[in-house]
Amino acid sequence: MSEARVAEAASERASSRREIISRDPKTGEELGRVPVATESEVQHAVERARGAWQAWAARSVADRARVLLRARRLALDRLDDLARLIARESGKPFSEAIAMDLVPSLDLLNYFARHAERLLRDEPLPIGHYTLLGRASRIAYRPLGTIGIISPWNFPWSIPVGQVATALVAGNAVILKPSELTPLTGLAIGHLFTQAGVPDGVLQVVTGDGTTGAALVTSGVAKIVFTGSVETGRRVAEAAARCLTPVVLELGGKDAMIVLADADLDKAAAAAVWGAFANAGQACASVERCYVHESIAEEFLRRVVEETAKLSVGEGDGVDIGAMASEKQLTVVEEHVRDALARGAHVLAGGQRIARGAGLFYAPTVLANVDHSMLVMREETFGPVLPVMTFRTEAEAIELANDSMYGLTASIWTSDVRRGRALASELRVGTVMINEVLYTHAIAQAPWGGVRCSGWGRTHGRLGLLEMVAPQHVHANRLTLLRDPWWYSYTPRARELFRRLAHHFTDGSLIGLVWLVPSLAKRWREMRPLRKVRKGTSNRRER
Ligand code: NDP
Repeated sequence: MSEARVAEAASERASSRREIISRDPKTGEELGRVPVATESEVQHAVERARGAWQAWAARSVADRARVLLRARRLALDRLDDLARLIARESGKPFSEAIAMDLVPSLDLLNYFARHAERLLRDEPLPIGHYTLLGRASRIAYRPLGTIGIISPWNFPWSIPVGQVATALVAGNAVILKPSELTPLTGLAIGHLFTQAGVPDGVLQVVTGDGTTGAALVTSGVAKIVFTGSVETGRRVAEAAARCLTPVVLELGGKDAMIVLADADLDKAAAAAVWGAFANAGQACASVERCYVHESIAEEFLRRVVEETAKLSVGEGDGVDIGAMASEKQLTVVEEHVRDALARGAHVLAGGQRIARGAGLFYAPTVLANVDHSMLVMREETFGPVLPVMTFRTEAEAIELANDSMYGLTASIWTSDVRRGRALASELRVGTVMINEVLYTHAIAQAPWGGVRCSGWGRTHGRLGLLEMVAPQHVHANRLTLLRDPWWYSYTPRARELFRRLAHHFTDGSLIGLVWLVPSLAKRWREMRPLRKVRKGTSNRRER
């Protein structure tokens, strides 16, 4: 079925019920309609998933990985169609739909298809002195069951595809709730994996709004993987806590870029412009605050303004900056810029909405003379705005960067990478980039996630894959002849042994264990041999 047919089929189903109209934010044109799934429909989807996941979980990782590779092949075959759909529904330029949504997801599908088996293999677990008592431990990674994935609109393809792929390859069923602004892209994801061979019921896409997302959170799924704003994330965490459903939260950011005096100015300026304006600034890891050493600030700003002036905004395959995804988001940007100007900021570029038909465009904006009293330096702007502030010392730069409730990513620009690494340890964020910005979500091998209000848990990389499984400790005792010396009954000899264990077992030294031998021997002698007990038990049964 083509993307157009997916939209058409969705429109037909939506005719008699509450529905969402998907529009192109560049033109306001209607792209399709989808139903708002009700609470009982979400519940029905969860029940279907429950019926389907065990057969999926029973398949080998290698078998499930082959499905990921087929999905990758199918997406590649339809690269331009998919990019067009993503671009139209989210407002981003066609080039960004390929570069920032499709390329990372194709790489991720390839990576997890080829490495999931190794990453999920049972692992022997060293258990120290317990090994001498004939015990051995392993960690096995078991699928969780059904995972609810709730996604935002800003990367409507790459974010859910990455999470869906890791959940599926680990043996889970998935229910995906895409953003109400990008439901057709969500349906296209479901369609892709179904075509690739994911069995009926194992991946279901429920379209809808916040009520659908809220219903999924309390539906009894095994885990929720939520990506979105701090405000909604808090509501999700509260609702999930009431059901004791674990959650991964990938939330907002106010990411700082620190440009030290020895940075390559040309690269730093170009990076600041791309990091702040790519995806019209609507990336959780966008450069939202830039701190520049005062000795280079003037030249840095000159280059930033020069680079910004070259950018084109609007429709068409060749543009650099597309539309904002919604009027609501555009209003937030306007409010932040207005507040900054009222408090003394200077506009060096942009600073206003661009009127172009029904399109939601905002000019790439550079602000100087900003400080931390302004909304634009404290709250997530999520738009094409680059506020630049100066600092005198590195300590001051670190303090400013850490002065935020968010902690997603930060970048440090310096020609001394070792110095950059040292400063990284002082930044309270999930990712620090040295001489890079924004893009590491695209690295399938690397974990993604924040600290503080930017979220809990990780996606991507091995740490992200492990969020999709329950680690199971399998412990075996091969010496079944003797009872454990810490079992009943607690005689004086037992207490004597326990004292010695406290001193000589817990210090980790092998030599110390020699001191245990006499009291262990006495203890075992006083405990009835297990064999006798077994015999006694079988006698009783015979009676
Ligand atoms: P929202 O928080 O508004 O929505 C995210 C998702 O949650 C949507 O699917 C939304 O549905 C759904 N939702 C809304 N209300 C509820 C509810 N009560 N219970 C469950 N689900 C609900 O975020 P946006 O879509 O506006 O995305 C932008 C935000 O996402 C930014 O803050 C950005 O920083 C963050 N983000 C974080 C990333 C990260 O990796 N850390 C990556 C990308 C974005 P609906 O759309 O229908 O309202």
